[in-house]
Amino acid sequence: MTALALARREALGGAARLTVDLGAVAENVRLLRRRTAAGLMAVVKADGFGHSAVDVARTAVAAGAGWLGVTSVDEAVALRDAGLRVPVLSWLNPLDADFGAAVRRGVDLAVPSGAHLDAIAGAAGPARVHLHLDTGMARDGAEPEAWLDLCRRARAAEQDGRIRVVGVMGHLACAETPGHPANAAGRRLFEWGAAIARGAGLRPAVRHLAASAAALTDPRSHFDLVRVGAALVGIDPTGTTALRTALSLTAPIVAVRRVPAGTPVGYGHAWRTGAATTLGLVPVGYADGLPRNAWPRAEVHVRGRRRRLAGRISMDQFVVDLGTDPVRPGETATVFGPGDAGEPTLADWAGWADTIPHELVTRLGPRLRRHVIAADHPAPDGNLP
Ligand SMILES: *Cc1c(COP(=O)(O)O)cnc(C)c1O
Repeated sequence: MTALALARREALGGAARLTVDLGAVAENVRLLRRRTAAGLMAVVKADGFGHSAVDVARTAVAAGAGWLGVTSVDEAVALRDAGLRVPVLSWLNPLDADFGAAVRRGVDLAVPSGAHLDAIAGAAGPARVHLHLDTGMARDGAEPEAWLDLCRRARAAEQDGRIRVVGVMGHLACAETPGHPANAAGRRLFEWGAAIARGAGLRPAVRHLAASAAALTDPRSHFDLVRVGAALVGIDPTGTTALRTALSLTAPIVAVRRVPAGTPVGYGHAWRTGAATTLGLVPVGYADGLPRNAWPRAEVHVRGRRRRLAGRISMDQFVVDLGTDPVRPGETATVFGPGDAGEPTLADWAGWADTIPHELVTRLGPRLRRHVIAADHPAPDGNLP
């Protein structure tokens, strides 16, 4: 039985349910490893893109990821608390973050500025650091004009035994568009930065620039390590690769009613039935993470076919237009899933709401019941491979 079939069965009579298929994560990790000669850092920030950081981290490490990556020290320490022992990098912290805790727990820290270098070198160390160069985003990372000085100061701190520079990192702004000129420019800047670091006497073992998009499409950007988040959970920013979606959302239809043509539905009476139809009520809304502006384009899957939402998505519920289908309360609406059975995907929802799947998976509400399928879960119907 597939994860989605299981989710459908278990949604019967229950609440809205989010199914996390860790088998999909394991498969995506294996695919990524085949695509690169570099090491793989599993990026599990934002609670593993909403899929549970610890679950995704454990699954990715078991499938061959040698590193973990997160933004904050707190996220990194939580991974250590859960027993994960591979190198963990935390790359976005304020100057007064608890760098001492990071060092004690063996967490690597990114250094984007001289002020960060001072703060991190001041913690009881030596801290393992990755110097972060801004390779064209004007976001995080040191400006190229500040890079030589940062490398020299890092070398001095290293010689004092206060830090060890184990990595150099950058990040690409336009990697989801493989031919974009900013990618080649970012790569050249990164190579320049790594050469400057070497010239300053540093010997970083891991140079890393690529995230999911570049990991999937541009081997020249891979260097020693690729940092992959979205692709782990089946989101391909480039739309080029058959990754497996790890997340499905199903919910029971809790009520149905027949209504005549011209019936206004939902807040603001923003929509009216065009003909007599059956309406189904589904207890999932924007508090659970559905983007309200996905209506009027949004659809769900009921009884093997796509059905349009009827009227605005509310905080806790939406209405679906079931037409002439004799649907009964207790039947399941699939909001999104891998798409195998024709159900909408996260990419569909993102398109309807004019956003990206990353935003949808990282804003799912706490009210959804989570069901996790282990990566090594035997098929419930006994059909072992
Ligand atoms: C989030 C993030 C990643 C992972 O990006 P994906 O596109 O999700 O793979 C890598 N590096 C940095 C600096 C990030 O912020």
